[in-house]
Amino acid sequence: MLKSIACGDVRASNIGQTVTLAGWVHRRRDHGNLVFIDLRDSGGIVQVVFNPETAPDAHAAAEDVRNEWVIQVTGEVTKRPPGTENPNLPTGDIEVAAAGAVVLNPSKTPPFYVNEQSDVEELLRLQFRYLDLRRPAMREAIVLRHRVVKYIRDFLDRRGFLEIETPILIKSTPEGARDYLVPSRLHPGRFYALPQSPQQLKQLLMVAGFERYFQIARCFRDEDPRADRQPEHTQLDLEMSFVDEEDVLALAEELFTAVVEELVPDKAVIKPFPRLTYAESMARFGTDKPDLRFGLEMADLSDIAASTDFQVFRSVLERGGIVKGFRAPGCASYSRREVDGLVEFVKSRGAQGLVSIALMGEGGSLEELGQDQVRSSAARFLSLDQVKEIARRTEAGIGDLVLIIAGPSKSTNLALSLLRHEMGRRLGLGDPNLLAFAFVTDFPLFERNEEEERWDAMHHAFSMPKEGHEKLIESDPGAVVGRIYDIVCNGEELASGSIRNHKRELQERIFKVLGYTHDEVDARFNQLLTALDYGAPPHGGIAPGIDRLMMILYGRENIRDVIAFPKTQSGFDPLFEAPAEVEQSQLDELHIRVVPEG
Ligand code: ASP
Repeated sequence: MLKSIACGDVRASNIGQTVTLAGWVHRRRDHGNLVFIDLRDSGGIVQVVFNPETAPDAHAAAEDVRNEWVIQVTGEVTKRPPGTENPNLPTGDIEVAAAGAVVLNPSKTPPFYVNEQSDVEELLRLQFRYLDLRRPAMREAIVLRHRVVKYIRDFLDRRGFLEIETPILIKSTPEGARDYLVPSRLHPGRFYALPQSPQQLKQLLMVAGFERYFQIARCFRDEDPRADRQPEHTQLDLEMSFVDEEDVLALAEELFTAVVEELVPDKAVIKPFPRLTYAESMARFGTDKPDLRFGLEMADLSDIAASTDFQVFRSVLERGGIVKGFRAPGCASYSRREVDGLVEFVKSRGAQGLVSIALMGEGGSLEELGQDQVRSSAARFLSLDQVKEIARRTEAGIGDLVLIIAGPSKSTNLALSLLRHEMGRRLGLGDPNLLAFAFVTDFPLFERNEEEERWDAMHHAFSMPKEGHEKLIESDPGAVVGRIYDIVCNGEELASGSIRNHKRELQERIFKVLGYTHDEVDARFNQLLTALDYGAPPHGGIAPGIDRLMMILYGRENIRDVIAFPKTQSGFDPLFEAPAEVEQSQLDELHIRVVPEG
């Protein structure tokens, strides 16, 4: 080794010893006579002093070096003079008096400061990711990620799980996204697909009798860009045989609770994890990934709305829509402009508009509410009794603002749930130190794709219907509840999983509803269906996303901040400049001709 000790490990107990250090110049201060260098390596930072009188050569070397140069220093560990200690550094009691110094490699001036956490344009950070990763916050994220993944591996190993790698070059494994394709040179005109997840492979491992499998698996999905998405993401992929929902959820709860308690002990979880069915979650929060750190639950106001003279409400209801709302505590005092801002917010998220009812005043009971205290764009269409009933339903009191949206159920729930999150954020209701994990269960098996007039799988094609629901598969697909569950946390979907179909006949019926022809099923799923014929055990699993988990544990909004080498939102890698053009000869070998765009 070119060093005898890590910079961050030097302590008072080393005083009097001669050590050799090697690392990066974090900061250099020239005090005329003495030169001080904070030397940094992966273990931390230590101060080195260069004295021209006692070590003229080392001092001369230190005069030339600049930030981020790589140097090796030999010297004695000494106690810092009284009053110069740095209580913020674990090495703050001591310094190293350089006797010799060697420049191992100089550095150009970095395009941004490595030694401070200043705001730097993200593209530049990604272009020089190796410098960005030297910065403390990124380093910490990567260290924590390592710890979390290691903890998960050890935890599952102790419970009898085997980590088994599955191929990256495979055939389409649908999870609802587009595939990334890889052309085959040896089989011209044929393509591998990168796995959207190892779903079918883990099921095949259950047929193979492994019973408990996991993998820290890379998944590739060619989806439209979104802030918290990456073309490739990492999952803890997990599958178990001879289990039901309770076994999978209990394991997940134990694992996530332990990860938080062991690795981010300043954060709290709600124990046991709350559970909601999909239907409940949609009714109470308008979404299947509610942020449970705060209330602001929604109430269906359709029946009250039907009794009003408000044409907007009535026509929505006549067309089969819903009227739904929730209270924003203490927001009756919102100005006209603030309310208009909320209207714009929901409009840009697919709602037709927003009805707000401010219950003006301070204190007092609802019973005493007077007409003059009601401020609403719809005031003239609502009787005082109707306003009171709406307030009761939404649990609003004097001083609150009730926010109501009317429209088709899907878009109304979506806009309202985004508005709920926004109000939670504005009112500071989400405790940043609370990780409100919860289970959402009983998802529908199928989801209607109105545009393409077909049924899609709500989760994926391999989930089993709930007992008694098999008979509805063909007659009423929309009513079939699946043995499907999600883990959500603070408004994010963290994991999806299900109990799978282990009988061929049931699986084939589901493929049929999803619109696959016999030939398509044969081409895409033959391997799985055939395996089900050979004694497939009942099985199920789940797959928490590691990137999302890290965002939540590390408290980041940007998924790229917890990935060493991420891509931009448009799937571009600024460091390697990928995707890139390739040599014509490579294309020729693959029998590929590129048709220019346009
Ligand atoms: N393969 C699924 C997914 O990637 C997870 C699972 O069902 O286990 O979402």
